[in-house]
Amino acid sequence: MITTYHRPQTLDEALTLLAQPNTLPLGGGTLLSCPTPDPVSVVDLQALGLNTITRKGNDLELGATVTLQQLLESEHCPEALKAAIKLEAPLNLRNSATMAGTLVAGDGRSPFAAALLALDAKITVQGSSASVIGVGEFLPLRPQGLITAITLPAQTKFAFEYTSRTPADKPIVSAALAQWPSGRARLVIGGFGKSPSLAMDGTESAGVDSAARNACHEAADDFASADYRMDVAATLAKRCLESLK
Ligand SMILES: Cc1cc2nc3c(=O)[nH]c(=O)nc-3n(C[C@H](O)[C@H](O)[C@H](O)COP(=O)(O)OP(=O)(O)OC[C@H]3O[C@@H](n4cnc5c(N)ncnc54)[C@H](O)[C@@H]3O)c2cc1C
Repeated sequence: MITTYHRPQTLDEALTLLAQPNTLPLGGGTLLSCPTPDPVSVVDLQALGLNTITRKGNDLELGATVTLQQLLESEHCPEALKAAIKLEAPLNLRNSATMAGTLVAGDGRSPFAAALLALDAKITVQGSSASVIGVGEFLPLRPQGLITAITLPAQTKFAFEYTSRTPADKPIVSAALAQWPSGRARLVIGGFGKSPSLAMDGTESAGVDSAARNACHEAADDFASADYRMDVAATLAKRCLESLK
């Protein structure tokens, strides 16, 4: 339950407030405003001007409070990333949910987290100084700190495929494949666990199907068996590769 609300006008002010105990950044508030028994203070980020999408050379820099819908409607958003974003949340939530909040709150079924991991996105975390870490380092630990930006490669080919109970449901298995002009390929398998899994990061895309299988050895849960996920992940990975040709 939110018991104290702050709306700082500067980043410094926000960081000072966030240094207080039991105080969290507020993005779109779609999760933080859900009722909980514990009191929490929040620092609303909406006045900090972190809601811009900027193309910088070969990078696309997304401010932490850019909403899912804002990115989906951006001319810079790859088609396959749009598909992943649509699957992340319905329109009303996409209009509020932010880049940073979605990444912090998402689990292994999050299509957005899978896409960002495949694209090897970088996160700028602000403390006493700014540090930049890969999504791959961030997701397993989810370290505390204020995320101010997420940077994606702008010229990378990207494919996303999934299977789910209904077309709009979160995936039971998903595959996200990014391919750089150099030939580098990163494959992520999602749909289970606490975070999507990096299945492959290689200099070429050969072997995506066996990498996809290997990522699912311990993927059994209430939704599907590991064997089912191994078969489906291999098929989805091959479909991703086909669609990038
Ligand atoms: C009806 C409903 C259904 C939902 N269904 C799902 C679902 O199926 N799967 C799912 O994963 N989520 C679901 N959610 C949760 C939520 O919508 C998403 O996770 C959402 O994308 C969170 O984004 P937000 O900006 O609203 O985050 P907030 O609610 O503002 O914050 C979420 C978390 O991120 C942290 N955070 C926010 N911004 C920053 C920042 N800049 N730096 C560091 N930390 C930050 C917050 O402190 C908090 O811990 C649902 C919510 C609702 C209301």
